[in-house]
Amino acid sequence: MVRKLAAQGVSHPDVLRAMGEVERHRFVDTALVNQAYEDTSLPIGLGQTISKPNVVARMLELLLHGRSVPLGRVLEIGTGCGYQAAVLSRLCVEVYSIERLRGLHDKARLLLSPLRVPNLHLLFGDGMQGFAPGAPYAGIIAAAGGDDVPQAWTDQLAVGGRLVAPAHLGQGVQSLVVIDRTATGLQRTVLEPVQFVPLKSGVG
Ligand code: SAH
Repeated sequence: MVRKLAAQGVSHPDVLRAMGEVERHRFVDTALVNQAYEDTSLPIGLGQTISKPNVVARMLELLLHGRSVPLGRVLEIGTGCGYQAAVLSRLCVEVYSIERLRGLHDKARLLLSPLRVPNLHLLFGDGMQGFAPGAPYAGIIAAAGGDDVPQAWTDQLAVGGRLVAPAHLGQGVQSLVVIDRTATGLQRTVLEPVQFVPLKSGVG
């Protein structure tokens, strides 16, 4: 998988290392294990999906861009099965990962427990509000996309911090958005179209 990622243009050595360290097959159902290292998104239950390795790598490269590893405190919205959270825990000092579906929060807890990741904190709740107790964050990364990036997220971003998230920015197209907080304010860059599951409010 890592060789494929490198061939597809993923070049950040820490991203490639971390993705090589986390076994993706641990996070998918037994019936899908033989597809675990393919560049494809896979169902994880409750209508949600684990992102393609290539998309995970792209987002992590954007998050780390120009910054030293390990990055400081990072917030992930959408724990899902916990795969990306496990990768993030190898690239950041501390990771807070929040999930709104109880079933997936419990599943991630179960799948992550044998990996013993002391710097990863799994939270159950509505990530639209961010997670204020851990703020400010050096990085915020979302695996679900809404109509725009919630203001709570940019409010919780440290100066010098970066947010990477999908968002629908008109014409029904979902795009990858990067927001940097500089000393003078927020700087927003819209990148390529992507397909993430919807960001929903409340818990379920
Ligand atoms: N990073 C995950 C991808 C999971 S898909 C992985 O590696 O498996 C995105 C997840 O975002 C889904 O589990 C969905 O339930 C969750 N989600 C959507 N809206 C949310 C919200 N407001 N707060 C927290 N999680 C949310």
